[in-house]
Amino acid sequence: MKVGTPEKFIVKGKRLDGRAPDEIRPIKIEAGVLKRADGSARVEWGGNIAVAACYGPREVHPRHMAKPDKAVLRINYNMAPFSVSDRKRPGTDRRSMEISKVTSEALEPVVFTHLYPNTAIDVFVEILNAAAGTRCTGITAASVAIADAGIPMKDLVPACAAGKVGGEIVVDLCDIEDNFGEADLPMAIIPRTGDISLLQMDGNFTPSEFKKAFEMAKTGCEQVYKVQMDALRNKYGKME
Ligand code: UDP
Repeated sequence: MKVGTPEKFIVKGKRLDGRAPDEIRPIKIEAGVLKRADGSARVEWGGNIAVAACYGPREVHPRHMAKPDKAVLRINYNMAPFSVSDRKRPGTDRRSMEISKVTSEALEPVVFTHLYPNTAIDVFVEILNAAAGTRCTGITAASVAIADAGIPMKDLVPACAAGKVGGEIVVDLCDIEDNFGEADLPMAIIPRTGDISLLQMDGNFTPSEFKKAFEMAKTGCEQVYKVQMDALRNKYGKME
């Protein structure tokens, strides 16, 4: 057991931050927050703050990255040095490369990239404050930013994690649960088709625990999806 592990993660049905096991943290999404970007979004989710900026379709540099049959969707996930309690060394590291890659793979299936051959769609995801679940916050933000840029998409992609803490399955881990818990299962879904476009796992679940965590994360994603849709409605619903 790691030093600092809480004695109990759940007391009288409530988690350390007062939530029920199946309750996600409060989430707010705003679309179109950056004037210079083609599309953008800001997501505040629990203690996480992410801003996503989408540029494109635009010329590809370096040119050899261009694909003749579709646009390349490039995600750049970056955690600000001040976003975590111990200062994070600025710049790219293995973790940010991994998260950029899985974010791009989570979003690619919904973007009509074949409409824009030989171009790039670039999305920058900046994590301004981190409190566990930044990849899910980033995917959620990036997907609204791409929609805000007017790029045709089959659907939005919401993301949410579930995990295991003190032997219990809970949704949307907070930082202490993420640090000291036994397992974490971040997931992204494509609600219209029911496809899963991100599924990662850290730690161990029994098969029945995995099933429960999977269902909880899926329900969490569906809740996030509603907030994403509302963010777009708030901006574009008022335009007629
Ligand atoms: N974290 C940190 N410093 C780092 C990387 C991560 O303090 O350099 C914290 C941060 O709060 C993050 C959490 O650890 O949200 C969990 O990180 P993980 O790699 O599991 O990804 P995430 O849950 O953010 O998608």
